[in-house]
Order: sequence, then structure tokens, then C-alpha cells
Amino acid sequence: MRAEIISIGTEILMGEILDTNANYMAQRLPAMGIDLFFMHQIGDNKERLVELIQTARSRSDVVILTGGLGPTEDDITRDAIAESVGEEPYVVPELEAHLRNFFERRGGRMPEQNVKQATIIPSGESIPNPRGTAPGWWVEKDGAIIIAMPGPPAEMTGMWENDIAPRLTARSDGGVLISRTLKTTGLGESMLDELLGDLRHAEDPTVGVYHKADGVHVRLASKAMYEDIARDRIAPVEQEIRSMLGDAIWGSDEDTFQEAVAGLLKERGMSIAVMESCTGGLLASTITDVPGASGYFRGGLVTYTAEAKIQYGVDASIIDEHGVVSNETAAAMAGAVRRQFDADIGVGITGVAGPEPHGGQPVGAVCLGIETQDESYATGYTFAQTRAAIKARAVTSALTLIRRATLGELMTGSSGVYRRL
Ligand code: ATP
Ligand code: MG
Repeated sequence: MRAEIISIGTEILMGEILDTNANYMAQRLPAMGIDLFFMHQIGDNKERLVELIQTARSRSDVVILTGGLGPTEDDITRDAIAESVGEEPYVVPELEAHLRNFFERRGGRMPEQNVKQATIIPSGESIPNPRGTAPGWWVEKDGAIIIAMPGPPAEMTGMWENDIAPRLTARSDGGVLISRTLKTTGLGESMLDELLGDLRHAEDPTVGVYHKADGVHVRLASKAMYEDIARDRIAPVEQEIRSMLGDAIWGSDEDTFQEAVAGLLKERGMSIAVMESCTGGLLASTITDVPGASGYFRGGLVTYTAEAKIQYGVDASIIDEHGVVSNETAAAMAGAVRRQFDADIGVGITGVAGPEPHGGQPVGAVCLGIETQDESYATGYTFAQTRAAIKARAVTSALTLIRRATLGELMTGSSGVYRRL
């Protein structure tokens, strides 16, 4: 089954909103055994939309539209579908009653132009919208399916989950594409490529290697008639990769890095405290994304100046000697905050988020320190990026260090300033 997606709205073309609806569906269609061949973005123009729907339905089995189902003049999706299949919309009395009722219950009168939300065409079927007023359309004509869903993402996803996805799955006979993503840290893309060797050329499951913000992902994918078969093909290869990569794998599929790190801290009963300069509390915020944070997170300090660092226990002579952005200061911050909060692990971050250099260091220079009961370690990086990206990279790198400290592998494979306490 071949599909294409059409996202409708001049706002999208103007760059005012991001087309997350198409992205949402693109992530889900493969697992339903549906091949997505085109994604279009088009403005609120009926003639152009009619033309596009005609092209799409001439070559694809399913054309999925979102947006333009509202009651206003520029909501042209229904009319365009009707015109492209050569049919006239008519008002469905039950839908109209439902709509009027909806407005009355909210103490208002339905504006007359809203009646267009209660229309359908002869080869169409109305799809309930549990989260809004505009119903969707499911149209079947000349062997092609045309689906229209509302633009607001909550309404679109509600309709997708309740009706559209189950129906499409039932109709698709192309089997399913099942994938499993193993998320790693500490290994580069090419190193992984080499380690995986022949597996990289296997056809079923295919094994892909992708560089992401939180490390390198290894994605296994298998296409089969039934989900169980695909899963059975993936399982042994996943096992093989897991035994090969061991601790380098920190999670899978939807797991986030902070969940994995928090999970380890909880499992080992270890507590943590952080002192942050250039990340302004982002590490504390990220690591406490995970529910039950009070079980492992003792506290955090944001110290933007040398004075503030000294006030909370950093030795002034270290800052004097090495500078405020230095491995030594980062290590001292980690030690100071560990003592302040009586935590098992202390973390210090100091750096230059930009756009101006600071403390004799270039933009993107970040130093991370970590202290446990036995060891102190600090290392530096240069992330030549935007301010937001530098902060994000610093946090991911800090989480990597925390994970290593929790696993007792602080010194594994990296250079820095190391001290046994
Ligand atoms: P409404 O009844 O609210 O007008 P609609 O079906 O007519 O709904 P649009 O008018 O096209 O939808 O879009 C309404 C809002 O939905 C947009 O302002 C935008 O916030 C969001 N939206 C629309 N299309 C998309 C899309 N493809 N991806 C993400 N958000 C979208
Ligand atoms: Mg609209």
C-alpha cells in the first residue's frame, strides 16, 4: 500500500508553524506496512489543492490530508476533495444537530458558516472528532482512499489513534515493518560500524547506525507479514549486538538518556548534586525530568560568578591559578557541591555558552568535573555551536560522565585530570 501526505495551510508555507502532523504519521506508517512515497505542504488555495489531490490519488492508494477543516472561508479541504472526485458536498442532518448541540451546551449559537463542518460527499464517510468540532472524512473512490483530518495536532492524533490507524492497518496487506533501536554512548559512529562488521550488510533485519544528540543509535529493522515474525528475526541479532557492545548500550527505543542515568542511580542507591555555571540549571532540570527525582537528586546550585562559586565552597586559589573555565575549577565545583549536599556524586559544569569568549576561553569551551567518594575527574570539550546547543551538549556530556561514575568506569577511555581521593 502506497501513501502520500498533504499538509494544508499557508501558515506552514510561511514558516510560522512546523509540520508536525506529517512527521507524526511518517513515524507510524512503516509499522503499519504502508510505504510513504511523498509528503507535500501546500497553502490554502483550492485550485492548487484539487490539482495535487488528483495527482496523488492517481499514483497512491492512500492520500492523507490534514488541516483546512475549519469553518472559515480559507478552510478549503472539503471542497477540494469533493471537486477532485467530482462530487457535491451535502449537509448530514445528524451531524448538523450534533454540531448545534455542541455550541448550545457551551451557551452559544452556532455561526451559520459552521454548517460546512457537517457536510459529506456520497463516497465519503464522516469520522468523529473526539477533541473538536470538525469531523474528518474517509473517502473511497476509484480504488483510492482519501482521508482528511483536522490541523490542530491534538485533534489529528486523537482521530488517528481512534479511527484512522486501526482502519488503515486493517486495509494494509503489506505486512509490518518492526524496528528496534539500541542507544549507545562512548563509541563513535565509525567505531560502531567496524564492530558490527558483517551485520551491517545483513538484509533481514537491516542494521543501521545513526549519530544522534544522545550518542550513536543502532537500528534493527525487519519487514514481515506478521509482527511476531519480524520480532523473532530481530531478537537473536539484538542479543548478538548486546553481548558485543555490553555497557555501551544505555537504552532502547523511546528511552531517554536522563531516564537511563536516573534509573542507574536509583538502582545503585546513589545520590547526586550539581553545581552549574554555563548551563544555568539545565542539568538539574534535565535529570529531574524523570519522576521520583527526590530519590537520587539531592540538589543543585547555579553559580554564575567566581564569587558565587567561592561562596559555596570552591577554593578561591584554584580559580585564581587555573581560571574560572578550567578542568581544575570544574573538579573543585563538583567537590564543593558534593559536600554541600552530602551526595555520593558531585558534578560541576563551567564553560562559555557564548556568544562572547569569557575567562580567557573561547565560545563553546566547556569543562566538566565529577567527584565520587573515591575519585575526582575532570575533562574539557569544545562545542563550536549556538548558545542553546552548547548548553545541551554540555548536559549530555555530563550525563555520560555521571553514568560512567555510577558504573565505576570514570576513567574508561578518556583523558582528563584524574585524582584518587
Ligand atoms: P480549525 O478548525 O482549528 O481551523 P483546521 O482543520 O482548519 O482547524 P488549520 O486551520 O489548517 O486546521 O490549522 C489549525 C491549527 O492547527 C494551525 O494554526 C496550527 O496550529 C495547527 N496545524 C495545522 N496543520 C498543522 C500541521 N501540519 N502540523 C502541525 N500543526 C498544524
Ligand atoms: Mg482552519
